[in-house]
Amino acid sequence: MASTQDTIAALATPVGTSAIAVVRASGPDCAKIAQAIFGQTLPPRTAVHKDYLDQNGSVLDDVLVTFFTAPNSYSGEDTLEISCHGNPFIAQKILEDLFARGCRAAEAGEFTRRAFLSGRIDLSQAEAVMDLIHARSERALTAANQQLRGSLGRHLAQLTDDLLCTLARIEAYIDFPDEDLPAEDRGIVRAAIDQLISGTKRLLATQHYGDLLRDGIKTVIIGEPNAGKSSLLNRLVGSERALVSPEPGTTRDFIEERLVIGPHCIRLIDTAGLNPSPAPIERLGIAKTLERAAEADLFLLVLDATRPHPAFPPEINERLSANNAVVILNKIDLGARPEAVRELAGKETIEVSALTGHGLDALTDAIVRHAESFAQTQGNEIIAINARHATALSCAQTALNEARTKLLSNGPIELLASDLRSALDAYGEIGGKIDNERMLDRLFSTFCIGK
Ligand code: GDP
Repeated sequence: MASTQDTIAALATPVGTSAIAVVRASGPDCAKIAQAIFGQTLPPRTAVHKDYLDQNGSVLDDVLVTFFTAPNSYSGEDTLEISCHGNPFIAQKILEDLFARGCRAAEAGEFTRRAFLSGRIDLSQAEAVMDLIHARSERALTAANQQLRGSLGRHLAQLTDDLLCTLARIEAYIDFPDEDLPAEDRGIVRAAIDQLISGTKRLLATQHYGDLLRDGIKTVIIGEPNAGKSSLLNRLVGSERALVSPEPGTTRDFIEERLVIGPHCIRLIDTAGLNPSPAPIERLGIAKTLERAAEADLFLLVLDATRPHPAFPPEINERLSANNAVVILNKIDLGARPEAVRELAGKETIEVSALTGHGLDALTDAIVRHAESFAQTQGNEIIAINARHATALSCAQTALNEARTKLLSNGPIELLASDLRSALDAYGEIGGKIDNERMLDRLFSTFCIGK
């Protein structure tokens, strides 16, 4: 890990021509460097319009510079933010000058890493910064914003607090080997552990939604060859990305488009047609379709409204339900067989013409409704953990289950306490710290040592 004693600098905006570019520096030398460049002590948190003088005394640009003093800055250290004209050449000259004055080029994510190291944000908030930058939809933005403001941290703080309370109750007896945990306390501890297990489970259950927010909702378009799957994808995407052909079976490989529908990011995947009696060359495509179907979140089942409802492989039928499938009666411009809708009772069915665009609004509304049903909220907040959080929470869950087993079998309380401490460490990992001070505070505040 890089030392926090040096001062780092980097371009904070993308390389290219723009109205302004921002160069940022963070570290203990910022005040001294600013004094040398601008010939004055900069007032903190005030944008100052100045000439940027390089080491040779040449004006590189007129810039707007803001000096933040530790700990009131993004990184928690003294920081300089220099907004220059958005010419990559100017930004580069400024950066080179900062390097000549002793700054080091910042590594990826180093400003945020310093914010974490200086205790300004916890690890889950640092991750939220990345999620915020990479969010592909309004919902992903909201989730990242809430996490940045500590939503996940608050849930974990509550679990940690409850766990500390329980641990304190047990620790009290460890120092007195003759005393076992009284039956009344056992009951309280058991109820508390059960609560902790279910709270941990609830957070763990949000991982899939986290994946959906970060990667998009896997929406697989399936149907017979020639039902209009590619035409529909083109309609939805508004481009001619998929190859449309009047010959059945042309989409043998997958075409995937990411698009934003309402507040959601959708990964729309076109598949090879499910031909009930496939030619040998189609079989591979169908096998791949089944693979895609196995991991789909949502199905758009495209049927040709003018043709009888085809038989689909059992692997598909088993996966389809009213919760994850929208049936699309396509080519409605040619008129539907009257029995078509009746055959598909139980699943939302929408009449569409990929050719004319009829029914497309109803279809996007249906997609939004389904996407909403995946949302995981606790109170007013979206909780959507990532894989790292899930690993730590699984460890906590295992340790809590162990503790529960020991409690029920009247195992030694030292071992029970040890399991609970493991769960505590696992919760702590998510925020990036294990707070023993808090543990002690809690212990002494709830336990009368003179007892
Ligand atoms: P896929 O094999 O399911 O991907 O089907 P395509 O999108 O390649 O479409 C097959 C044929 O049906 C093409 O000739 C399309 O122009 C036609 N088609 C697709 N959607 C419609 C529709 O809504 N109405 C009509 N009349 N023709 C359509």
